[in-house]
Amino acid sequence: MATDTDFDLITIGAGSGGVAGSRRAASYGARVAIFENSRVGGTCVIRGCVPKKLLMYGAQFRDAFEDSRGFGWAADAAPGFDWPALLARKNAEIDRLNGLYKTMLGTAGVTLIEQRARLVDGQTVEAGGRRYTAKTILIATGGRPTMLPIPGIKLAMSSDDLLEMPELPKRLLVIGGGYIAVEFASICRGFGAKVEIVIRGQHILNGFDDDIRIALEAELTRRGITIHNGFVPASLETCASGLRLTARDGRTVEADKALCATGRHPNSSGLGLEAVGVQTDEQGAIRVDDWSRTSLPGVYAVGDVTNRVNLTPVAISEGRALAETLYNNTPTQVNYANIPTAVFTNPAIGTVGLTEQQARAQGFEVDIYRTGFRPMKHTLSGREERVLIKLLVDRATERVLGCHMLGNDGPEIVQGLAIALNCGATKRDFDRTIGLHPSAAEEFVTLREKL
Ligand code: NDP
Repeated sequence: MATDTDFDLITIGAGSGGVAGSRRAASYGARVAIFENSRVGGTCVIRGCVPKKLLMYGAQFRDAFEDSRGFGWAADAAPGFDWPALLARKNAEIDRLNGLYKTMLGTAGVTLIEQRARLVDGQTVEAGGRRYTAKTILIATGGRPTMLPIPGIKLAMSSDDLLEMPELPKRLLVIGGGYIAVEFASICRGFGAKVEIVIRGQHILNGFDDDIRIALEAELTRRGITIHNGFVPASLETCASGLRLTARDGRTVEADKALCATGRHPNSSGLGLEAVGVQTDEQGAIRVDDWSRTSLPGVYAVGDVTNRVNLTPVAISEGRALAETLYNNTPTQVNYANIPTAVFTNPAIGTVGLTEQQARAQGFEVDIYRTGFRPMKHTLSGREERVLIKLLVDRATERVLGCHMLGNDGPEIVQGLAIALNCGATKRDFDRTIGLHPSAAEEFVTLREKL
């Protein structure tokens, strides 16, 4: 490889996509530097998926204590809960992972430069008053929370803030009904907060299958979360009891703390993109083609900063595909079909493939199989909770188009189903598969009655 530049590859951003691409490139002998001005690990490890899931594990103990009575355990009441203790343990784990990521970069031979970098041209970045050159530049700077442009929004927390809040509020108001809103609502409810969600539309989780959305709303409501729909926020202000959110139609909701979870946007400002000719769209996402090439030759972008599918495993795949293409002579594009995804609410959602609405919009004649049942565990625990499983099948080819599940095993089950869908599995393939008994998963292979 040429040595007329400082490096072969400079990556800006040490999150999931940047780290994966850099390590893979280095494994093929590329001289790689990665720039990071915050903590190595990015959104997923530091302020996203990982801390969120750790908190969710914590929140679910409430159920375990309550449910245990039905199994003969003499727990009269849930023991006391210590939020600062959980926060400290969560932070220690994040510190450990942060250290691990740094070690992994070092072991891979990637040079970590803990500075904020900005593009000077297609082969040069500037950081900490110095310039560094590389044949190729990869931008993997991720995204960050979007705060609603309404008066008083500064009084609200973002998901970053909630993950660090020193004490649990007694009453939490959540603005938005996407992944982050419902997950954090579920977590705080599990720890005992009174939680109210406000959404501007009719239902939470736009883009998910309607049956699943409605069923999750029922479960969240059963657990004491209030959902206000058609609520378009107009202003947030302090009031005698804490915070008050007012809607355009005059309705108000009061709480001790508010979380604004109204989406995320690409971290593309301050990188010098416009000056060097890297095009972005109206949301600030870097425009890329199927090879993650930007409009400037030699400059690539992966992950949330491109606003394609904003999920960690997708960013990782994009980073690795690029390294395979550039440094291993193996042109590789990411397969965006049948990406499984989960919403870690309580109960959780696992989903892969098309929703009923998407399937119909794409012109499929769909056969729908659906079942709802009380999980076996709750026959003894007495908990009122229902699982929903839904399968969509293309009538013409019998191919399974989508699998959706509301139930705490959903995320674990759906990963395997994603493999089946990528293999083109038909309903007949599902039917000839013997179920694993007793499990919720077996329902996916025993669905007989079309809706
Ligand atoms: P989402 O895009 O999922 O949800 C945004 C929510 O905010 C929606 O309910 C939306 O309403 C609402 N909203 C947006 N703008 C306004 C507005 N002006 N006024 C009122 N409400 C508004 O964003 P998130 O922040 O929840 O998550 C960002 C991304 O992060 C996700 O799309 C996902 O890719 C990723 N993620 C994945 C997770 C996982 O895999 N488990 C967990 C967390 C995040 P409406 O529906 O009406 O548009």
